[in-house]
Amino acid sequence: MNLIFLGPPGVGKGTQARLIERRMGIPQIATGDILRAAIAVKTPFGEAAGRYMSRGDLVPDAVMIEAVAERLQQPDTVGGFILDGFPRTIPQAEALDAVLAGMGRRIDRVIAFGAAEDTIVRRMSGRRICRASGHIYHLDSNPPTTPGVCDIDASPLYQRDDDRPETIRRRMQVYREQSEPLIAFYQARGVYTAISAEGEIEEIYQTLLAAAAPQVLG
Ligand code: AMP
Repeated sequence: MNLIFLGPPGVGKGTQARLIERRMGIPQIATGDILRAAIAVKTPFGEAAGRYMSRGDLVPDAVMIEAVAERLQQPDTVGGFILDGFPRTIPQAEALDAVLAGMGRRIDRVIAFGAAEDTIVRRMSGRRICRASGHIYHLDSNPPTTPGVCDIDASPLYQRDDDRPETIRRRMQVYREQSEPLIAFYQARGVYTAISAEGEIEEIYQTLLAAAAPQVLG
């Protein structure tokens, strides 16, 4: 099952992608995580990308397309994958089609997560991330057992620079201008399903399973 998770930043795509990864045994490919890992180890690629990210802007298409094309060559994607945060522009979506076609593969389903803007802003402001492995928490809706510490690997939690109010606004604007056109792009291909991402994590997860992989439920 080759899936794309679409939706505004902070809507909860990453949290749900990690649940699906565990349930279906297919890897989550989160381009934001790939970039943050490159920044953490201070590669030239990470340093260049970090300048766009801290402003809330998108990293140039060519760089992202190359990173995803390379990731899709890994053998763990053969049984399927979840793209989380990619594509974010029409040129990225077109390049993805071409890369997959070259591998004799295609996207099975695009799930678009939707929520009200104030829900999204609340989710981003309260989001905390585990330094070691990127596990995602929220101060109100999914807090760690010990404040500031990851339940899974005990590493410290941090707030992403781009989850601060000024950058959140810019990221929402970038989403509307550059990523929303993807909705029509995938609707035209007949693989598009929109789901509500309002409510609790478990509730959204059940909606998602029914939409993305009804055979897993049955
Ligand atoms: P995310 O973790 O998905 O919210 O991504 C964080 C930031 O990484 C974004 O605001 C962009 O600056 C950058 N980024 C992640 N994925 C992409 C992409 N597909 N295209 C361009 N920039 C991206």
